[in-house]
Amino acid sequence: MRRVLVTGGGSGIGRAIGRAFAAEGDAVTIIGRRTEALTETNDGRGMTCRAMDVTDEDAVNGLFAEPFDVVVANAGGGSASPLTKVTLEEWNSTLSVNLTGTFLTFRAALNGMSEGGRLIAIASTASLQGAAQIAPYAAAKHGVLGLVRSVAHEVARSGITCNAICPGYVDTPLAEAAIGNVMKAKNAGRDHAIKILVSGNPIGRMITVEEVADAALYLASPGAAMVNGHALTLSGGEI
Ligand code: NAD
Repeated sequence: MRRVLVTGGGSGIGRAIGRAFAAEGDAVTIIGRRTEALTETNDGRGMTCRAMDVTDEDAVNGLFAEPFDVVVANAGGGSASPLTKVTLEEWNSTLSVNLTGTFLTFRAALNGMSEGGRLIAIASTASLQGAAQIAPYAAAKHGVLGLVRSVAHEVARSGITCNAICPGYVDTPLAEAAIGNVMKAKNAGRDHAIKILVSGNPIGRMITVEEVADAALYLASPGAAMVNGHALTLSGGEI
């Protein structure tokens, strides 16, 4: 039975990934800031829930007393503002959760990780291209990809892989905020706002959390042993 860790497991993509690995019979630990949300994710599936912040170095290190086989650094988020309106606090907190959180998680995970181990970062299409109003988020997610590509070289000879999943808009509470912003800015209804948001995606719809979870299951599978340092985009062909 694999030991699997998913950060930010209390909602959205992290919830779906945690549940997908649990359905495979893996021993899943989910972490996040809110105990209630983690308990909701678990909902009787036998997952271990630990409330903590991924930017807390001691707390993250403390998670790995016993090593994990699969580690999914998913916790993240961001808000939309033009650069001139971004405060230093917003900048720092966006880099902290998305980039530093992934760094702390992967660094601790590698301490004792065995051959066959898998590091997976939930990055974004914003790891590969910029867009208006998301400079801190895109900077952080580009950083995540740089981290992944570099770690991939370091672990390559030890049978461990390190990869990133880069989705476009996924139907989660995080995307809900983006939908609300577009509705406000364009005075648009919800459906129209979603159409605007996904207009760059040739398939023309939001991605489901299950589709992201399936990509994580693939990267964690033995058949993906040769996939390393890869940015797996889920964007309907946008990138
Ligand atoms: P979400 O808000 O539902 O989930 C993010 C989770 O991370 C939440 O449970 C939150 O509590 C947790 N989290 C945030 N900061 C944390 C911290 N400091 N410590 C511990 N947990 C923390 O959003 P989501 O869409 O499921 O996002 C998951 C990941 O996917 C994020 O990294 C996000 O950037 C990425 N992503 C999302 C989309 C999208 O459109 N939803 C697209 C591309 C990438």
